[in-house]
Amino acid sequence: MKFTKPRLPYSLSDLEPVISATTIDFHYGKHEQAYIDNLNRLIDGTEYQDMALEAIIRNSEGALFNNASQAWNHIFYFFQFSPSGFKGPGGKLAEQIISQFGSVEEFKSKFEEAGVSLFGSGWVWLSADESGKLCITQGGNAGNPMKEGLRPLLVFDVWEHAYYLDYQNRRAEYLKKLWDIVDWEVIEERYGL
Ligand code: MN
Repeated sequence: MKFTKPRLPYSLSDLEPVISATTIDFHYGKHEQAYIDNLNRLIDGTEYQDMALEAIIRNSEGALFNNASQAWNHIFYFFQFSPSGFKGPGGKLAEQIISQFGSVEEFKSKFEEAGVSLFGSGWVWLSADESGKLCITQGGNAGNPMKEGLRPLLVFDVWEHAYYLDYQNRRAEYLKKLWDIVDWEVIEERYGL
């Protein structure tokens, strides 16, 4: 198998009560494994089998894009959390957020709104363009801002499987709680300016 699921840098219960061990077990343990298994099956014996995952995402459509992007998006999502990481942005990223959104709180509020207003399944993203300017975008289903030439920095999963066991239909509450476990040191490293 070409692609494998990386081991999380925390234990299943470390993100409680924001995300329960049961949710991580199903979400990362089972949903993510299925995307990776499908991805490996779809690239086997094709022109995609020696490509990096990001290249597959940029160069595919349909079922292959959906599974490749979902495989990548979930790793990006789960690896931005930590029970003990930096709880607010700093450095150049904080400066850019404040310059574009007014304050970190205002940015969070806009980001949550984008997540709440996305109809159906998908992702809400913070990305940077080539000049370092930030933007919040919604991606339906497996949507990924790399398709539009943007560099992803932060993502919240708004598929129901991400929150239904812990929050049932309360998507807005789930989105607000996620800030408690975002490790901003990871987001700053991704921004990298
Ligand atoms: Mn998901």
